[in-house]
Order: sequence, then structure tokens, then C-alpha cells
Amino acid sequence: MRAKPEEIVSVLREEIQNYDTRVRRDETGTVLEVGDGIATVYGLDQAVYGELVELDTGVKGMVMNLARDSVGVVLLGSEAGVREGTVVRRTGRAADVPVGDGLIGRVVDVLGQPIDGLGPIETTETRPIEHEASGVVSREPVNVPLQTGILAIDAMVPIGRGQRELIIGDRQTGKTAIAVDTILNQKGQDVICIYVAIGQKASTVARIQDTLKKHGAMDYSIIVSSTASESAPLQYIAPYSGAAMGEYFMGKGKDVLIVYDDLSKHAVAYRTLSLLLKRSPGREAYPGDVFYLHSRLLERACRLTKEYGGGSMTALPIIETQAGDVSAYIPTNVISITDGQIYLETDLFFAGQRPAVNVGLSVSRVGGAAQTRAIKKTAGTLRIDLARFRELEVFTQFASDLDPATQQALDHGRRLLELLKQPLYHPMPVSRQAILLYVATSGLVDDVPLEHVRPFALGFAGEMEAEHPDVVAEIESTGTLSGPAVECIRAALADAKKRGSATWQA
Ligand code: ATP
Ligand code: MG
Repeated sequence: MRAKPEEIVSVLREEIQNYDTRVRRDETGTVLEVGDGIATVYGLDQAVYGELVELDTGVKGMVMNLARDSVGVVLLGSEAGVREGTVVRRTGRAADVPVGDGLIGRVVDVLGQPIDGLGPIETTETRPIEHEASGVVSREPVNVPLQTGILAIDAMVPIGRGQRELIIGDRQTGKTAIAVDTILNQKGQDVICIYVAIGQKASTVARIQDTLKKHGAMDYSIIVSSTASESAPLQYIAPYSGAAMGEYFMGKGKDVLIVYDDLSKHAVAYRTLSLLLKRSPGREAYPGDVFYLHSRLLERACRLTKEYGGGSMTALPIIETQAGDVSAYIPTNVISITDGQIYLETDLFFAGQRPAVNVGLSVSRVGGAAQTRAIKKTAGTLRIDLARFRELEVFTQFASDLDPATQQALDHGRRLLELLKQPLYHPMPVSRQAILLYVATSGLVDDVPLEHVRPFALGFAGEMEAEHPDVVAEIESTGTLSGPAVECIRAALADAKKRGSATWQA
């Protein structure tokens, strides 16, 4: 029996009257195909970009592609059991992570779930992993130092709280070591540290956790881990999850240090993801929006004004270069987004100059305003002296007899480099840095035999700490090197040299 026209009209009228304009939260779709951690889903035509969806198998996904009659969903977990026809449900909210104090001291996956076997994490709040960066009005200039404890860095490429400083270098040049040392140095500084591992080996992450624990640094740190064995989507969201956790503390007025180790692998994960989503490839097969990938992440690091909470988030992204090529696509992108870079070099590393910081190519564009005064004053000529030394060294390579001035500049440069060497996991307090820099840059140890310079200077710094704790405490608390303090250092050094010279001659 055919329906009469008036019946149809009444049905339509009823439908229109009852039409619910709100998004229906229970909207569902079905999987058309799945593979490589990506599911194409039919029927989710109301889904929005970045929305969290849930599959019948319990695994969660994030909407990344909006096509005409299907959406591309990246799976944030195992695709086991997902097949054609699996039901997908919208959640109506963006992908988020739990945030809060409960995370401190824990190792979590990119969704904030514990993976350290220490039981569930107590948190009550969540934050979307993607979040707009703070605006201009809410930002304050960088003017508080973030001491890395590494002499070469604090003296020449100082970092301020809220700054973004890139650590860049080839593989195995000590990039991670610098980040870890910086975390260790935040002990007692009231800084919350977040280490985000992106595509690292699980053993590397375990070793870092172990190191942090051994030095008591887990008490104020969070490790967000996505290992190389995890799918590209998980590696892709790792830094954003970490940033969301950091932003929570920043909003509470805390200072946060976040390390992204490393963004090269992040870019590769995103490229994989994009190609699987059938987006068109661009330069080096990266998708066109790969710059935005890192700019929106690093823009989230900042220092907030008092009205907005007064916290800060300092970012140390890491980039691995191939054969020192800093002009490749991803390195140049990230260099242009950050406020400076610490450039590590393989040649220096193998020549024994560790940390292998290339002084000429490393810069910090905003940290100078935040540098501790005692260090700024004593490190003033360091950069120039080292540059001069490098030039002279090249020129005099084959010269046999040198005039005294040249010889003196070479001797001075060699001793400076010697003092910039620093073993792993031995961050230095400000007072020690100031003392070492003072004696080195004023040429007071130029007459100490080269092989004795390091032990002598470190021994001297130790003596100062033991015998003149008042002077050391004054440098620490005021951040300056006063006239009397300088007098004291000079007198003590003359004395130490007198004692030391006996052993050098022997
Ligand atoms: P990868 O590219 O594999 O991530 P990386 O650049 O992060 O490497 P690290 O893992 O930090 O480099 O360090 C490489 C090796 O160099 C490690 O074995 C580490 O112990 C050693 N190393 C790093 N810094 C120093 C240092 N200052 N003194 C002595 N050894 C160091
Ligand atoms: Mg590393």
C-alpha cells in the first residue's frame, strides 16, 4: 500500500520538529578497511578533526582525515581484532591525557597510562593533547636562568626559563646526555622536568629512567615514552601529550623543563602517518604541513605573566642530523622555530672534547638576558678567545717557531678548552662555574701544565668550597662575584699554585 501524500508531509513535519541540532554523541560508524595503524571509517560524518573515537575492540583512535564519505582514524593502540565492519563510536571530545601531580615520578605512555608497574596514577583532571599556545598578552620576557649545570652551555649559550633551545648534532654526539644532565641539575630548583622519548629504543628509555632515579631526579620528573616499536600515531602524539602535562603545571605557576628526544624521529613518524593517510608528499616526502607540526608544538613553551599564573615551560627539542648537515629540511625548520641551538660535533666528540659543543655555531638568542651575572661577567671574553684560538690553531698547524704573543694565545685557548670538558652526570653549581671561569678567563692557570689544568682547577674549586664556604655561599645567593670574593679567589689560587707546582715538576 502506498502512503498518501498528506501522510508523508506529516511524517516529514514531525521529523523536522523533533530534529535535534546538537551533535549526537552516540553517533557510530563502521570500519571499511584497516592497516598500518590506520582505519578508514564510514558513517562518522559529524566527526571533527582531532576527535577521539572508540572502537568496539576497546582501542581508541583519533580522527585525522576528513574525506567526502569516510574519515581516516589513527589507532592509538593495537589494531588486533579490528576488521571490516567493526563499530566505531564518537566520544565528542578531543584526544586528551590525564594531568596532575600524580604523574610526577612516573613513566607513562603517550596516553598518560602508567607503564612502570608502580600501580595506577591518581589524577582527576585531563587536558587535550593539542592546545593553542598562549597569546602575546599572556607572555613575559625570559629573564630567569635555567642552569644546565654544563659549563660550556651556561657560560656561552645560556638558557632562560621559557626559552626553546635546540640540541642538534649527529648520532652519538651526546645530545641526550646534555638533556639528562640538565634534568639532574634541576634538583632543588623547583622545576618539574618532563622527558618525552619519541621513537627511542626501550632500553635507552629504561637507562634514562635508571639514571634519573639513581640521582634522585625522578622525584620531580615525568617520562613520557613512545618507543621505536610503537606505531607511528603513538610516536606522533607523544610530544603533544608531554606538552599538555607541562602546560598544566605551567598554569599552576610552576616552572617546567620539557625535553623532546627527538623531533627528527617525530617528523618521520608524521611522514609515515601522512603517507598512510594518502596525503600528498612534498620535499623529502614530508607532507606540506610538517613545519606546522613543530611550530605549534614549540610555541607552547613560554613564560607566563603573573596574571596568567606566572609559570614557564622551557623546551629542549633534540634533532639528529645526518653527517652534520644542518641545512636539511627538518633541521632548518626547527632551527628557525627555536631561540637558538646547541650544536654538537662528531669530530670534537672523538677528539675528547666532551660535551662536544661547537662554540662558533651555537647560539642562544634570548638567554643572555637571563644569565647569572657572575657567569656573564667572568665568561665575557670566553667566546672571542676561543674563536681566536681556533683560527690561530689552524694557521700555526705547521709553523715551527711562534712569537710569544701567539704562543700565549694558543696556551690560553688550550686551557680554556680543557676546562670546558665535563664528564657525564656531573652538573656544576653556579659558584663552581664562576670560580672556574674566573681563573680560566683571567689567564691565572695559563702557567699550569696542560695535563694538570683540569685536576688542578677542579681541586682548587673543591678547596674553595671547603675552606671558604662563605664566599661560595655569597656567589650562590647573590649570583654576583664581588670585589672581596675575587680577592679571596686570587689569594687562595696563588697559594694552591705554590703547593701544586711541586707535584707538576715531579
Ligand atoms: P643518539 O644519536 O644515539 O641518540 P646521542 O647524541 O643522544 O646519541 P648520547 O646517547 O647522549 O648521544 O651519548 C653517546 C655516548 O657518549 C654515550 O655512551 C655517553 O656515555 C657518551 N657521552 C656523552 N656525553 C659525554 C661526556 N660529556 N663525557 C663522556 N662521555 C659522554
Ligand atoms: Mg639520544
